[in-house]
Formats: sequence, C-alpha cells, structure tokens
Amino acid sequence: MAKRISVIVSQGQSSNPSKRRLEEEIIAGLMFEPGFDVTVTPHLYDLKADSTGMLAFKGISGDMIVCSWMFERAAHWILDRNHIAGHVGTTLLVNEDEEDEEEEEEELEEVEKQRVIEHRDIPNRRIYCFDLKTTNRSQDYIAEAKRILAELSVDVVSLGLGGAQMDTSATQRFEKPTNSTSLARDGSGLEPTSEVNEQIEATENSGTEEGNVTRIDERAPRRWYPVIDYSRCTNCLECIDFCLFGVYGVDRIDTILVEQPDNCRKGCPACSRVCPENAIIFPQHKTPVIAGSAELGTSLKIDLSQLFGAPDKGRSAVQVAADERDQQLAIAGREIVGMQGLDKRQPNHKRNRQRDALDHLVDQLDQLDL
Ligand code: SF4
Ligand code: SF4
Repeated sequence: MAKRISVIVSQGQSSNPSKRRLEEEIIAGLMFEPGFDVTVTPHLYDLKADSTGMLAFKGISGDMIVCSWMFERAAHWILDRNHIAGHVGTTLLVNEDEEDEEEEEEELEEVEKQRVIEHRDIPNRRIYCFDLKTTNRSQDYIAEAKRILAELSVDVVSLGLGGAQMDTSATQRFEKPTNSTSLARDGSGLEPTSEVNEQIEATENSGTEEGNVTRIDERAPRRWYPVIDYSRCTNCLECIDFCLFGVYGVDRIDTILVEQPDNCRKGCPACSRVCPENAIIFPQHKTPVIAGSAELGTSLKIDLSQLFGAPDKGRSAVQVAADERDQQLAIAGREIVGMQGLDKRQPNHKRNRQRDALDHLVDQLDQLDL
C-alpha cells in the first residue's frame, strides 16, 4: 500500500492576511496530492486537550507533518504534553542562521545529565514540525513535504531500532505510572483511551471536507502557558518551587509537568529564566530563546542561559524573574516575595553572575520582534 502522511496546518492566532495566504497556498498545493491527508486546525498552542482540534491530532497514529507559526521545538513539545508523541523528524527547512549556529554547537562539549526523555519509550513514528516563519514561499514547504513522503516511502529503517531498544535499567520507576498524566516509559498514556477514541470518532465527522483537506472549525481563545522540553529537563523541580500560581505539578512518579496551564499569568515568562536547563518554552514570547529557538535548545559548554536574561541592564536573569513574579503577584492582589528563597536556593547559580557580552546580545534579540 502506498505510504500516506498526515499534514496539519495549525493556523496563526491572528487573521494576518500574509499568514493566511501562506497557509492557504500550502493547503492548495497539497490538495488532491496523492499520499497526503491535510487537516486545518486553530493554533496548536491554543487547543485544549479535549478540543476537537487536539482530538484530530490524537486520531493520527502514523507519521505527521505539523506546520505552525512556532519554532519546531515548541510545536513538538506541545504535542508531546498532549500524549501525541513521536521521534523528531528531521526537516531540511532550516533557516541559514540556525544552520550555522548548529554547526558551531557541534564543536561544543555536551554536558552529561540525565534528562526526563531518557526514561521514556517513544512511539515508532516521526513528527516533522515546520516553522512557518522559516520562509514565506509556500512551494518550499510543499517541496519538503513531498521529499519527506518520498523518503518515508523508501525508508526501510525502523525507528523502533533506535527508540524502543533503549536501556531500561534506569527506568524502573516509570514502569507503572499511576495517573493519566504520567510520562510512561512503556508508552501507556500515549494511546487514546476508549473514551478518547469515541471523541475522536465524533471529531472525524465534525470538520468540513474538500478533497483530502479537512478543516476543523472551532473557537480557540488565546492561551499562555509554559511548555516543557523533556529532552532538556532534568526534573530538578526548580520551576515548581519558583511558580507561586500552581501551574506546575508532579505526577505520582514525581516527574514535573505543567498541570494547570491556564493558571499561568499572561505575558509572564519568569520561570523560563529560572530553569537551569533552558527547558521551559513560552512559544509566543518575542525573544527567540524563550520561544523555543532550536539552536539554543541544546546543552552548551558556555552559559547560554544568560541569553534568557535580564533585559534591564546590570541585573541577573533570576532577579528579573523575581521582579516579573512580583508584578504578577501584585496584579493578583497578593503579597510580593522578591528574591525570598531564590538567593538561598541558588547561591552560586550561574544566572546570578554579572551581565556580560551575552546579556548585551539578548538585549539585541529583545529588539527583534519575530
Ligand atoms: S526547572 Fe527546568 S529542568 Fe528543572 S524541572 Fe523545571 S523544567 Fe525541568
Ligand atoms: S510564568 Fe509565572 S505564573 Fe507562569 S508558570 Fe512561570 S512562574 Fe508560574
């Protein structure tokens, strides 16, 4: 049977005409193309777990391509949090600046730490995320989708060889997760339950169809919440201590998760500045490093965490994060806490260093409204 791949076009939050045009050109370019099933949804970040759009994602069991107005890393981990997991598919759609920086990164030494992802099995499929900000030429995305489909059609290398044959000796505590939000290493929780299956079936009849294109029409108000990149997270729990709004939680195997995303304070990225691993993403933040820019998502010998840094000159990222948290506490009518607990907890934290050239670089990044 000929290979098929699902393509999701996650629409921009605004109805910006140039964004809509690019989305529609991609959809039109793949319409009636053999091998593609296209689904159009509201912005992926805004979809709640039980939304029609997210159920449409859950109904896809094979490889998929996700086109969204976010960095690839952000899109991947939003899906993962919703139990839509897969191996990261490699796309050639990388802007040249990022490519150069990736080459530089390869020369830098990886810091060896145990990451949450090492305790998880990943379903045998690939998820390719296209960042629609990479190029404004629809033909580039269409050509890349066709290249991926062609590659998958001839690919005899099973991802299971890499993902499923992991050393499980360190994963015992993950074997029997005890609630539905656990990050199960055996893949349970990644498969839809019967209840979800019923919802998915209902979803299949809820969109409008034209050729191979299904459009999910639902209202998805804008949201703001952190997304954890588990390929970086070490489960240090700094974020749960820092956040005073009950956003984070742990499952019964004590793995960090974003439990109450909608408790997060709109526009505030404070905890991303505090995370020692740069694992917390706010996909809609204007600063690329906070929004999930790929080149800064890897472990680097140099202290890239400072890039999360302090827009106000002369103050560390942790100090700025404490100020941002205080602002939100004040708006909520609560008592401010300043640096309470932070100095004690992180006496030698790298982010308490004085500002240097990297901080000035982030000031420049802040000026780029990407
Ligand atoms: S602070 Fe960062 S690394 Fe630590 S648990 Fe939170 S997300 Fe993971
Ligand atoms: S940005 Fe603030 S409110 Fe939102 S999760 Fe982080 S610390 Fe909590």
